[in-house]
Amino acid sequence: MLPVKEYEFWFVAGSQHLYGEEQLRNVARDAEDIVDRLNASGSLPYKVVLKGVMTTADSITQFMKDVNYNDHVAGVITWMHTFSPAKNWIRGTMLLQKPLLHLATQYLNTIPYDTIDFDYMNLNQSAHGDREYGYLNARLNIKNKIVYGYWGDADVQQEIAQWQDVAVAYNESFRIKVCRFGDTMRNVAVTEGDKVEAQIRMGWTVDYYAVGDLVATINAVEEAAIDAEYAKLQQEYTLTPGDNTPEKFEHSVRYQLKEYIGIKRFLDKGGYTAFCTNFEDLWGLDQLPGLASQLLMRDGYGFGAEGDWKTAALGRLLKIMAHNDRTVFMEDYTLDLRKGHEAILGAHMLEVDPSIASDKPRVEVHPLDIGDKEDPARLVFTGSEGDAVDVTVSDFRQGFRLISYPVTCRKPEAETPNLPVAKQLWTPKVGLKEGATQWIQAGGGHHTVLSFRLTEEQIHDLAVMLGMELVEIC
Ligand code: MN
Repeated sequence: MLPVKEYEFWFVAGSQHLYGEEQLRNVARDAEDIVDRLNASGSLPYKVVLKGVMTTADSITQFMKDVNYNDHVAGVITWMHTFSPAKNWIRGTMLLQKPLLHLATQYLNTIPYDTIDFDYMNLNQSAHGDREYGYLNARLNIKNKIVYGYWGDADVQQEIAQWQDVAVAYNESFRIKVCRFGDTMRNVAVTEGDKVEAQIRMGWTVDYYAVGDLVATINAVEEAAIDAEYAKLQQEYTLTPGDNTPEKFEHSVRYQLKEYIGIKRFLDKGGYTAFCTNFEDLWGLDQLPGLASQLLMRDGYGFGAEGDWKTAALGRLLKIMAHNDRTVFMEDYTLDLRKGHEAILGAHMLEVDPSIASDKPRVEVHPLDIGDKEDPARLVFTGSEGDAVDVTVSDFRQGFRLISYPVTCRKPEAETPNLPVAKQLWTPKVGLKEGATQWIQAGGGHHTVLSFRLTEEQIHDLAVMLGMELVEIC
């Protein structure tokens, strides 16, 4: 997996001086306990670091400035143990440029009826302290995340964990660089977009390179490097020559590995973590990158076919969010419209990410009807079963729009002996007719990112953080 920078989250407890120093020491002690136990729970993907108890506007403002300039801090978690007068939070919160989670929790998950007294009440004021603090965030239109519930509960910890993944993806979004080999497919509308606006809004750098520049890098790949990848391929997948002569099969596979290594070197040299190709522009290449693109997606690179740089960037972004777990480039390929069977069969000519395979992928070599090049090697496999989300991004004059729906994934009902591509079947949770109608109405394209790891709530949170319009079909 392509590495992601090590991130952490800074945690502060809100309080005030009204009840004396001893109560502030108790606030600090309880905050430390919560942070220690959150970290020890093993539920959170990123470390939480306690940065103390905040009681004044000056300390809060300084804290938020420190968060902004520290590149390892992905976001802030706040907890109001006592009532923390929210005017103190105005300046700092307005300066904060990173995601904010308000953990609306209480130190104890019960009311200690036998022992409760005013000392207890002076210390444990989350019930009303959260309202005071929440009012200010609402008034400032911060659109922060609120996680409500007992901090020790598994479901609350999972909500924090999923938000952390979104917050890290948000930070990383501004570092995503997409390499376009060639332009978008001729005459196609939905894969177009405003690259300057994408950088302003989502932070995506989208650069063009002539395919010839890539060809030079690919042609320089040493035979020994291809040998090493070939050996790895034999370990990981099943090589299936089929009707091909052994020589033709090996030639095609080795050429794809040569493309894989060459593209990877080209991307890594320029700091690119996503890329797109276009079958109409393969100047100097012997094959459309099929297996090559699939291996790069497996490694964590975002990919878009037909020059679709928006889906390439979205794919990389969601792979970061999902820790590169079963989060893949997909295309609506063909339909089952029979009553009771309604489903979309997703696939692509070649480029489907093997991380959703439910069987051991086979390396096969078959002709490709378009592109007018050599028969490319590709991975052929069957997708998985389970809940997933399907997401796309379209560009309109008024901005970018995310469109998504939760889906139920299944395996195709039968083999397709004459269609040798990787395949995944799914049905929108709202039903195919309703889901697809809304998708088309909203202007969602046929290229998507399908994820078995991410939730609809995470897609929602991401859209809020990035200030993107989101059409949720659920
Ligand atoms: Mn396509």
